[in-house]
Amino acid sequence: MPVKTPVYLDHHATTPIDPRVLEVLQRVQRDQFGNPASSGHAFGWAAAKLVDTAREQVAALLGAGAREIIFTSGATESNNLALLGCAEAYAARGRHLVTTNLEHEAVELPLAHLAQGGWRVSTVAAGTDGLMIPEAISSALTADTVLVSMIAAQNEIGTIQPLAEVGRICKDRGVILHTDAAQAAGRIPLDVDALGVDLLSLSGHKIYGPKGVGALYVRRRNPRVSLIPRQQGGGQERGLRSGTLNVPGIVALGEACRIAAHELTDESRRLLELRDRFWHRLREGLSGVHLNGAEKPRLAGNLNVSFEGVGSRKLLTQLTQLAVSTGSACSSADAGPSTILQRIGLTPEMAGASLRIGLGRFTTVQEVDFAANRIVAVVASLRDGGTEAE
Ligand SMILES: *Cc1c(COP(=O)(O)O)cnc(C)c1O
Repeated sequence: MPVKTPVYLDHHATTPIDPRVLEVLQRVQRDQFGNPASSGHAFGWAAAKLVDTAREQVAALLGAGAREIIFTSGATESNNLALLGCAEAYAARGRHLVTTNLEHEAVELPLAHLAQGGWRVSTVAAGTDGLMIPEAISSALTADTVLVSMIAAQNEIGTIQPLAEVGRICKDRGVILHTDAAQAAGRIPLDVDALGVDLLSLSGHKIYGPKGVGALYVRRRNPRVSLIPRQQGGGQERGLRSGTLNVPGIVALGEACRIAAHELTDESRRLLELRDRFWHRLREGLSGVHLNGAEKPRLAGNLNVSFEGVGSRKLLTQLTQLAVSTGSACSSADAGPSTILQRIGLTPEMAGASLRIGLGRFTTVQEVDFAANRIVAVVASLRDGGTEAE
């Protein structure tokens, strides 16, 4: 059976909604319009009960308590609330923050904003394998460091960062640890206590849930983390995120987390097999292919590959049957080669010769074979100076 094209291989940018999640989303959207803050009648109670369950489901995915989950509009908002809210709450403790050079713009830019406001921000560089060295983070800490923010799994190269080690270092030094886990949540096991994480951001649409909903985990004990809210109003979400709750989105996020927690182990095993098959086919079919970032530890569904001598723009225009990308979805509008790849030591040429391939829950072996064959054919033909007919 021929595969249906275009084949979606861009699961780091967003994921399709899981049919089971969609079913929940539609049901709540249709049948439950109550405001969970309406404490005087059954419509409000029903909505509040649904939100409670969702809060427990999100918490369970992270080994957290339900009261530690704040619902937001997505990982961008969660990151902003965590970073700006923490900085404002703890400014008296010191004015120093530590981060990495592997962060998403939704961490990088709030921190740049704080830097403009007088905070010192130290950016620790990853190794050429795309992994942070815990000792390097440790060395960056000073007596007035308030917070470390380190991405959990990188959104372009999929490398999984040493959170547990950095968590231990932060605990020893009394520093708050935030992680942007938009790519990691639901894809690798995360336990906030085992990892020593105090603040964690996640996003619905990266885990087969809807867009426009996310969560922030905020530790309530050992230590209890305070945040200054970014918006004022009705005092929802323990005053940290005022505004009427997106009940259908929240319930759907809960269901997405429930499914992820349940299926994570099997799913990552399956994705790893598909990923290895894909990578094997590329290497078999072509010379001059390089995997960017360490092969391990890496998200099971991620491949980031450079093809010597082939510009990725040109490659993409020839690969119309595939939905792949050249870098992060947010930055691919500016046509330049990935800065993340250059930060881990790739030349602009090699960074500009890369493809990010993200396999997901519904990717089939037929799609993998089809995609690998297309890439091999198009790269070979571009190297020949020709244009491959689709
Ligand atoms: C997608 C992504 C975000 C942004 O999440 P939204 O929910 O779209 O705001 C932030 N950080 C990382 C690492 C991401 O992959």
